[in-house]
Amino acid sequence: MSFSFKTRRAIIENFASEKYDIIIIGGGITGAGIALDAASRGLKTALIEKDDFAYGTSSRSTKLIHGGLRYLKQLEFGLVKEVGSERAIVHRIAPHLVIPEKMLLPLYEKKGLGYWLTSIGLMIYDYLAGVRPEDQRRMLTRGQTLRYEPLLKNADVRGGAIYAEYRTDDARLTIEIAKTASRLGADVVNYVRAEEFIYEQGKINGVIARDLRNDEVISLNGQVVVSATGPWVDELREINRSKTGKRLRLTKGVHIVVPREKLPVAQSIYFDVDDGRMVFAIPRGRTTYIGTTDTNYEGSPDDVITSRQDAEYLLKAVNSAFSTINLRIKDIESSWAGLRPLIHEEGKSASQLSRKDEIFESESGLISIAGGKLTGYRKMAERVINLVMKRHFASRPMVKCTTSKIPLTGSDLHNDREVRKYILRLNRALKIYNISDITINYLVTTYGKQTDIIIGFFKKLEDPDTEFRLLKAELIFTVEFEMTMTLLDFFIRRTGLAYFHIRKVLQFKDQILSFMQHLTGLGQAEADRQKKELEKYINLITTFK
Ligand code: FAD
Repeated sequence: MSFSFKTRRAIIENFASEKYDIIIIGGGITGAGIALDAASRGLKTALIEKDDFAYGTSSRSTKLIHGGLRYLKQLEFGLVKEVGSERAIVHRIAPHLVIPEKMLLPLYEKKGLGYWLTSIGLMIYDYLAGVRPEDQRRMLTRGQTLRYEPLLKNADVRGGAIYAEYRTDDARLTIEIAKTASRLGADVVNYVRAEEFIYEQGKINGVIARDLRNDEVISLNGQVVVSATGPWVDELREINRSKTGKRLRLTKGVHIVVPREKLPVAQSIYFDVDDGRMVFAIPRGRTTYIGTTDTNYEGSPDDVITSRQDAEYLLKAVNSAFSTINLRIKDIESSWAGLRPLIHEEGKSASQLSRKDEIFESESGLISIAGGKLTGYRKMAERVINLVMKRHFASRPMVKCTTSKIPLTGSDLHNDREVRKYILRLNRALKIYNISDITINYLVTTYGKQTDIIIGFFKKLEDPDTEFRLLKAELIFTVEFEMTMTLLDFFIRRTGLAYFHIRKVLQFKDQILSFMQHLTGLGQAEADRQKKELEKYINLITTFK
């Protein structure tokens, strides 16, 4: 069944009569990746997500597809190699969404690893991560570093390095993976929460869940149940009474967003902070975002927010790296805070904990997976499904993982060159509508070739304001083809506007809500609830206590 606001209820009504091979709980990148791997190997697959797809950590990362440079510092060579080759694969299957981005690493007199250690480190990184020759590291003199980034001119910079990273939109990547799983036959829905497990002779064979849109309790039958619930993994293990041995340790990471003119970095930069940590400043459209922090977190995974202390830490880091910049709290337009679901290790600080993923199997058969990175989602999924095939479907012919060859929906563009050509073509074709280059770039790096469908809707609409007309076209597309259920889904995870264009959200939120009512038949009470929910969220990401 297709992946739409319109088909969601029908998918849920069908749950009771299906016997699934595998039920996946959690619609972050890990769960979506597992659903895609399972469906592509012919398993009858269901995925349920308690909020929206990518609601958890998968919309709150630094939005980089890493080659794993920081793993090198922790001497995890195997991990550097794996994420390096994974990065190349994810770029290939979604080139509009995983975009090469050179990263500048300034090297200081008194901080960080120093010139020679960095040079050797990056050389090992290039080798292990299999970096393309044209992307391999370049060491820079002080003069060259300042030409790359004039804002560093008063810093005690000794030199620098340029190395390869890839930027992405984490929530969009998650949604495209979920859509692809659905295209291959998986039943995938949002706003359905797993609340209990069904057991037969002590073994799990289903899930009791609740459709949070109408409070209806539903049951799903399945031979295997996988919990890919990130920071919530231990909650599900508790329900399964299997939270023994290793457990999660949650650390909070915060990003703040400022207007580009307030921090006009020439390109992405990864710089040392006085406390020994490193911080990114990444230009994106009309903004620059800065992150991240890494502090222990004890509260509920649903309540994580950016505190004043978090915001001030990042402002201080930026202001001391760039002496001509004086960012203040009032300059912050937006922010997000996420949780790293790391595996607890006695005596280690937040930053020292390994980012490796880990699979837990309970006696009753619940398989849980946590840890890892966006970048490694495909390999994590492969490992889980290999295990599932071995344990539960050994009598079936072993089908190998082929997800490295499955383009993600919207990936009719095959490489960077085709993405650039498509952007140029749209620039020419849309000139008559006065749509800016930044907007076209946004559309293509958000939706890829699916931009054609959005432009098709745009042409049929009649609003005089181009910006609003385009936003309406995006809403039609994401409701019809991406299961957008609420204003928050649209403004955070489908478009990223709540983080990168908050002015647009504030300006158009009421009109978009009315249009959503018109499109989906949303009742007034639900519309009022969604309006309040959005306003509360905007307050949370723009004020810091
Ligand atoms: P989540 O995305 O949290 O998904 C779990 C989902 O399970 C949630 O959507 C939740 O709602 C759902 N769920 C929970 N309980 C239930 C239930 N009972 N029923 C149904 N659903 C349920 N990685 C990179 O590769 N690059 C980066 O730049 C990067 N930066 C990061 C920066 C920060 C600050 C953080 C915190 C992480 C970063 N990571 C990065 C790591 C990466 O974001 C995570 O590893 C990844 O997003 C985890 O995805 P997940 O699917 O396992 O968890």
